[in-house]
Amino acid sequence: MTARPSRQLRTLWLTNDLPPRAGGIEQFVANLLERVHPTSTVVVGPAAGLDGAAHDERQPYRTVRHSGSILPTARVARLAVEVGRLHRPDVVVLGATWPLGELAPTLGRALGVPVVALSHGLEAGIAQAGGGWLLARATRDLAAITTISAWTEEQLAPYLRASRHVRLPPGVDVARFHPDLDGAQARHAWGVPSDAPLVGCISRLVPRKGQDQLLAVWPEIRRRHPGAVLALVGEGPAGSELAQRAAALGPDPGVVLAGRVPWEALPESHAALDVFAMPCRTRWGGLDVEGLGIVYLEAQASGVPAIAGRSGGAPEAVIDGVTGTVVDGEDPRAIIDALDRWLSDPAARAAAGRAGRREVESRWSWTVIADRFASLLDEVVTSGRPVAG
Ligand code: GDP
Repeated sequence: MTARPSRQLRTLWLTNDLPPRAGGIEQFVANLLERVHPTSTVVVGPAAGLDGAAHDERQPYRTVRHSGSILPTARVARLAVEVGRLHRPDVVVLGATWPLGELAPTLGRALGVPVVALSHGLEAGIAQAGGGWLLARATRDLAAITTISAWTEEQLAPYLRASRHVRLPPGVDVARFHPDLDGAQARHAWGVPSDAPLVGCISRLVPRKGQDQLLAVWPEIRRRHPGAVLALVGEGPAGSELAQRAAALGPDPGVVLAGRVPWEALPESHAALDVFAMPCRTRWGGLDVEGLGIVYLEAQASGVPAIAGRSGGAPEAVIDGVTGTVVDGEDPRAIIDALDRWLSDPAARAAAGRAGRREVESRWSWTVIADRFASLLDEVVTSGRPVAG
């Protein structure tokens, strides 16, 4: 168990991924900023216009916006050092290891403090694509790096030069995603009867996520479970191909292409489902791979069993047979069996929903994850790793 350190640290963040822009890394960064030493933190972030100014004003931390992107350029380095000299941080945090790790030597030397970086799915993709040397360079002056899953850690390990690696997956807001939410409105919006068995996939529409496989097996599921509905929520480049595939299933396929749901409606959309399914698969010889799959955690926090594909870190997000099922995303039989199992047994579904909720509360909630990050910062500052140079 990690305890929230008592000492208030002054932190300087440098990140190109920051709300109000939407995205997984932006959410990751925002959730940590909000919870870890918020009132003694200054963030150097990318240009974001008036929306950015309105957003920044509402935060407990101060944000300095650069005139462009936050990349490892001389101008960004100068700005960060200037802000750092005024703020006098105990530690610098980089929102991404690559490419921002390139700035670690300059910042560490100029400010005389340790530099810590978060890593995400991208860095593992770089390692897989033969770019390990880039990671070795970007991590050579880091006091610590965080990794989102055991799988990404395995990809990165040969190249990481940082002295500490700590597992820090993106978390879930367990107050926001909750089993007690009423999914009736989402069902109504999608035209799904309140008593119809409902399988859903809430995700970007891209081949890796496996919505095409769900459509391929759906006629068999409908044969076994007449009246069942498949809701594909989200948008993306595979949208029109998926619409064609759905249309080819016939006049009443029991498929809803729901499009993107607004951020506020996301928790209710999960709560409307009986089973969440995203049978993702690895493509392009490992280049296109699931880092973890935050959607599986959102589903389980909502008390819904989750079917995940065996790709990258995705199997780590589900306890196979307990909170959902892990399948080979290229094996239609396995996908059918998993869907059939959960649709056939409401009691098993409810038990899995309870187990999933417990699991997410204890291991994946933002409170737990932010505490772990706060402990890491404390450790790094306390151990006073000598700074490069
Ligand atoms: P990634 O897209 O590969 O980063 O997949 P993740 O599963 O790691 O994260 C995707 C995030 O986008 C999750 O929080 C999803 O709930 C969210 N998301 C996916 N589709 C939609 C949508 O249609 N609307 C909204 N508001 N969020 C979505």
